[in-house]
Amino acid sequence: MSIESLMRANIAALSPYRCARDEFEGQADVYLDANESWRDYIKETGRNRYPDPRCTLLRKALDEVLGLPFANTVIGNGSDELIDLLFRIFCTPGRDSVLLMDPTYGAYRVFAAINDVRVLSVPLSSDFAMDLDAVIATMRKEHPRLVFICSPNNPTGTSQSLAAIEQVLKANEGITVVDEAYFEFSGKESAIGLIKEYERLVVLRTLSKCWALAGARIGIAIATPVLQKKMIDVKYPYNVSSPAQECALRALSSADAVIEGVRYTKLERKRMEELLPGIPGVVKVYPSDANFLLVKTHDATALYHYLVKMKIIVRNRTNEYNCNNDLRITIGSRAENDRLLQALKDYPWN
Ligand SMILES: *Cc1c(COP(=O)(O)O)cnc(C)c1O
Repeated sequence: MSIESLMRANIAALSPYRCARDEFEGQADVYLDANESWRDYIKETGRNRYPDPRCTLLRKALDEVLGLPFANTVIGNGSDELIDLLFRIFCTPGRDSVLLMDPTYGAYRVFAAINDVRVLSVPLSSDFAMDLDAVIATMRKEHPRLVFICSPNNPTGTSQSLAAIEQVLKANEGITVVDEAYFEFSGKESAIGLIKEYERLVVLRTLSKCWALAGARIGIAIATPVLQKKMIDVKYPYNVSSPAQECALRALSSADAVIEGVRYTKLERKRMEELLPGIPGVVKVYPSDANFLLVKTHDATALYHYLVKMKIIVRNRTNEYNCNNDLRITIGSRAENDRLLQALKDYPWN
């Protein structure tokens, strides 16, 4: 099926809003086109002007620094915006469905509910691998518009193999979304290279994790140019503020520091993987390709509340599918990780 025929009919036919900054993209001396203020009260910061709706400089930098081709990228207000955008482009409320593999990132389900889209859940296996047979059978039967593969997966930390992802791409007549929010911590191969062959693949990245810009809200979708164009037409014109675009450009110019930060996090992850199992009350530490560990405990809820009292906040995932008594613990600085370890050691298990 073509990308267009999968889109909601009104979206495929949309004639997009053209903002002032779309009509004229070059450089001029006098801008009287956007009803902005000519004054800049907060000291020449340029905030009196609207931001670039297409994030041109940022996307050029992403191409140069990360090799994400300019013609394939869309910048969102976090990848959360891009997930919602995909629902709005491809799913008719009250009619369509999406496929999720639980346990996974909770936002997919919330955006499905907001858009009145049914969720088909095909659980991951007990070691959090994809259940390919069940996924393919469900796709054939229910024809979900979107299939979300989170790899490495939140909250499990596990990656899906490119071979398994390709099996899904071969069988899926809808859109396959591979969320690579934690990709940089994995050392595995990206799915981006598959877009050339499978045009119904969208890969999501974010600057919220290893790029340390969660506060700036920068998500990246990599998609075939037809879809990239449609995503730009459907998103809010000025979805990424100019301070956010500037922060992202600065972060990309310090890529060496980020690479070093990822190395540090992976070393700390390994240290925590080794030390946590020696602590009473810790039942199991799952292997992780991300900047967090999923840890099975004797009593996740009791530990969670104890850690809050110790002024340490982790994520209690005990109510997620197959995550009974699991805590999700982000890898912090060495000092922060040591403080967590000490608190866990001090817990009065009886
Ligand atoms: C953290 C995270 C994101 C990032 O969301 P942003 O909106 O870009 O901050 C996306 N997907 C998953 C699975 C995540 O865990």
